[in-house]
Amino acid sequence: MKKQTKAIRTQTKKTQYREHSTPLFLTSSFTFESAEQGKALFEETEEGNIYSRFSNPNVTEFVDKVCLLENAEEGIATATGMAAVFASMAGLLKSGDHIVACRALFGSAHQIISQILSKWGITHTYVDADATEAEWEAAIQENTCMVYLETPSNPGLELVDLEMLARLKKKHGFILNVDNCFATPLLQTPLDLGADLSVHSATKYMDGQGRVLGGIVVGSAELIAPIRFFARHTGPSMSPFNAWTLSKSLETLDLRMERHCSNALQLAQALENHPDVQSVKYPFLPSHPQYELAKRQMSAGGAIVTIEVEGGFERVKALFENLEIASLSSNLGDSRTIVTNPFTTTHSKLKPDEKAALGITEGLIRISVGLEAIEDLVEDFTQALTKSAEITKAITA
Ligand SMILES: *Cc1c(COP(=O)(O)O)cnc(C)c1O
Repeated sequence: MKKQTKAIRTQTKKTQYREHSTPLFLTSSFTFESAEQGKALFEETEEGNIYSRFSNPNVTEFVDKVCLLENAEEGIATATGMAAVFASMAGLLKSGDHIVACRALFGSAHQIISQILSKWGITHTYVDADATEAEWEAAIQENTCMVYLETPSNPGLELVDLEMLARLKKKHGFILNVDNCFATPLLQTPLDLGADLSVHSATKYMDGQGRVLGGIVVGSAELIAPIRFFARHTGPSMSPFNAWTLSKSLETLDLRMERHCSNALQLAQALENHPDVQSVKYPFLPSHPQYELAKRQMSAGGAIVTIEVEGGFERVKALFENLEIASLSSNLGDSRTIVTNPFTTTHSKLKPDEKAALGITEGLIRISVGLEAIEDLVEDFTQALTKSAEITKAITA
C-alpha cells in the first residue's frame, strides 16, 4: 500500500459501538479483567494498555502510522518534539560518551547537547553542515556513540548527505539520529538511507494547523527499547487528545505536503526574480548549493523558503508591517504562511560568530509557506517588498 493509504486506513480496533472514526480514549488508566491479567500485563507476557503514561490506544495509533510512514519497526510518542530529541539521547547515551552533531541545529537541541548532557559527562563536537566526508570523519572519536543532525536545517536550509554518514557509520559504529521534522516522512525517510533513528516535532507538519504539541522518535525495536524504558519511567508522554488530533492530521499529510511544497517552490521562484530580494534559498531551486543532493535525498523541497533583503532590520520591519496575509510568529509548519526574522527572535541568543557561521544575518527572513492560494502569496510578498523599499529609501535619504 502507498503511504497515503496507510496514513488513512491505519486505525485502532473498532469498539462495540462500531464507530467509523477513532474515538478519543481520554483515560489515565485501564482495568484488568482479572488479577492474573494484571500480573501478565506487568510481566509483559500479555500485551495491552495499563496506564496512559506507558501507552494509550490513541497514542499507539499515531505511533503505528508514523512507523509505517518512516519504514520503522517501533516508536515512542512524546509531549513535544524536544522531549523526543532528549529521550532519543538520554535513553541511549551514558557518561563518557561523545556526540558528533551538525552545527546547524534547532536552538533547544543545541542547549540539550551543550548545557544539559554535558552535566552528565557526555561531550560533543560540532561539524558544519556542508563539511566533507573527511571532516565528519575527523570529528569521530573512539567514544562517539551518536551522530545527530537535522536535514534540511533551520533556518539555513543546509542539507547533510545521509548516505555519506551511513558509510561512516559502517566503519565507526555509531547511532545515526536524524531530526526529520522539516522534510516529514513523505519527502525523506532517513532509515531507508541508513539512519538508525528518525525524530520529529509533530507540532509542525504532522499537526500542520498550529494546534497541538507533540514529538516522536522511531527506529529499530532494539534501539527503541531503552528509549521506551527512559520514557516510561520519566514520563514525557503524549496526551491522548494530542495523539488523536495528530493521528487525524496524518490522514491529510500527503495532500498538505503536496500543496506546501508546490507553493514554496513557486514563491521561491517568484522571489528569486524580484530585484529587491538579495538571495533566495530553497532546496529545490537549482541555485541552492546542494541542489543535487536535495534531488537525490528528498522527493520535494519542503515548505520553508528563506530570503535575504537589503537594509537590515529596518527593512525587515517595514516588510513585515506591510504583509497583509502572512502571520508574524516564531512557529512554522502551519496551514497559514508565517514569516520569522531569526536574527532577532528564534536565533537571537546565539553569539555573533555563531550567527555568522550559520548565515543568520539581520536581513534574513524565514518563510514557512502555508496552504493559501499561491497567487495571493506572491502578490502579498511583492506588494510588501515594493512598499517597504519606499519606506526604507525615505528613512535612509
Ligand atoms: C520545532 C522543532 C523542534 C522542537 O519541537 P517542539 O515540538 O517545539 O518541542 C525540534 N526540531 C525542529 C527541526 C523543529 O523545527
